[in-house]
Amino acid sequence: MERLLVVDDSTFFTNLILGAFETESGIEIVAVNSMADAEAAMDADGAPFFLAFVGLNLSDAPDGEAVSKTLALGIPSVLLTATFDESVRTRFLERGALDFVLKDHPSSLRHLISLTRRILRNRTVTALVVGNADLARRQCSNLLRRYRIKVIEAQNGAEALEKLSENSGIRIVITDHDLPTMDGFDLVTAIRSEYDQDRLIVIGMSEHGDAALSAKFLKHGANDVITKPYSPEEFYVRVALNLDFLEGVSARISAPSRDFLTGLLSRRSFFEIGERIARNTQRSGLAVAVAILDVDDFKAVNETYGHESGDDVLKAVAELIARHAKRGGDVAARFGGEEFAIMLEVKDQDKVVDYFNELRETLATLEIDTPDGMVSVTASIGVAIQKEIDLETALKVADENLFAAKSAGRNQVVVSG
Ligand code: GH3
Ligand code: MG
Ligand code: MG
Repeated sequence: MERLLVVDDSTFFTNLILGAFETESGIEIVAVNSMADAEAAMDADGAPFFLAFVGLNLSDAPDGEAVSKTLALGIPSVLLTATFDESVRTRFLERGALDFVLKDHPSSLRHLISLTRRILRNRTVTALVVGNADLARRQCSNLLRRYRIKVIEAQNGAEALEKLSENSGIRIVITDHDLPTMDGFDLVTAIRSEYDQDRLIVIGMSEHGDAALSAKFLKHGANDVITKPYSPEEFYVRVALNLDFLEGVSARISAPSRDFLTGLLSRRSFFEIGERIARNTQRSGLAVAVAILDVDDFKAVNETYGHESGDDVLKAVAELIARHAKRGGDVAARFGGEEFAIMLEVKDQDKVVDYFNELRETLATLEIDTPDGMVSVTASIGVAIQKEIDLETALKVADENLFAAKSAGRNQVVVSG
């Protein structure tokens, strides 16, 4: 088992990661939500971590202290953040972080998966870096090593060809154009007389503002070109794309599906993520609240204001739920029609009742602007709180409580558990 460390205090995102990696064989994820727990996990016995995904802002490490720690221990680390900040990003990439991933971005999970697969496979990859300038060559080699690729260096074309014939494990050559005696283009030609594009990757280093150099590399048989000065991110993307091509692989992992009208998670995603949270809390011993919210007399809204205005009302309700659920990193979905489902971890049962009552009250005061006038609605909410939850049962209980709330006159919350 390869061990991957996830340090983040958003239960929602951690669960997405756990789910996305469920089908990745051979990877064990150790997920913690604080710097203190991360340090304990790194100190504990067990195989070292081959990779870490680390939140930038943790309650006990608000300014990237946790990622500084994983980097100091030599663990390739990817920074997780909720917001994009160019200066923060540059600071941590310069300190050696592998990448910077926005948690909210729809493609972030797919990116984390392909990055992880890449890192694991990179340990069997050897690269040959060819360049006459020590500094530039070393910079390139360091980036590759940080990416877990073994590196061999050569200072000129003849030496490069010699190293290639000695090391059959070399999968990728990165070469400068400006080499003594044999230039970079001749080197590519010589390499291509023996190795095809789908057996050995060759990437040329071009100069900013010199498009002819890039074209020349490609015409001589290079797979790709990187233009100097380059950012670590661009470098890694190019190297990864080319190695993926060489290995004939592509990462396939889809983001959770969303409801078309409201943008909330779909019913299916709610079950997928909910099951995972349920399994997790069975381990942690925490209770979970599952709620179904149903808009009251919604048929009348459609009849009075029309179906389109009805849609606008549903969007506004969804927006309010999303805003409300965000505070705890909770899971909110459109369950169907005018029904929504919400799931959250419970530390204090009284707070759960407040949480849903607040949501209900805010909704009742909302004036929703539709093409056919201002509309106000109320909702009834049925909640089930359970330890060791089984999602199906919890939803059934929540549904019974919803029915009770409707029977008792609507616009109320009924909780059991
Ligand atoms: P109750 O208080 O008992 O929940 O009454 P209700 O009228 O809300 O419940 P009912 O289940 O009878 O009606 C729900 C209505 O929601 C019927 C359906 O046409 C409407 N509906 C379902 N999906 C959509 C949608 O996507 N857009 C719009 N505009 N209406 C929808
Ligand atoms: Mg309904
Ligand atoms: Mg209804």
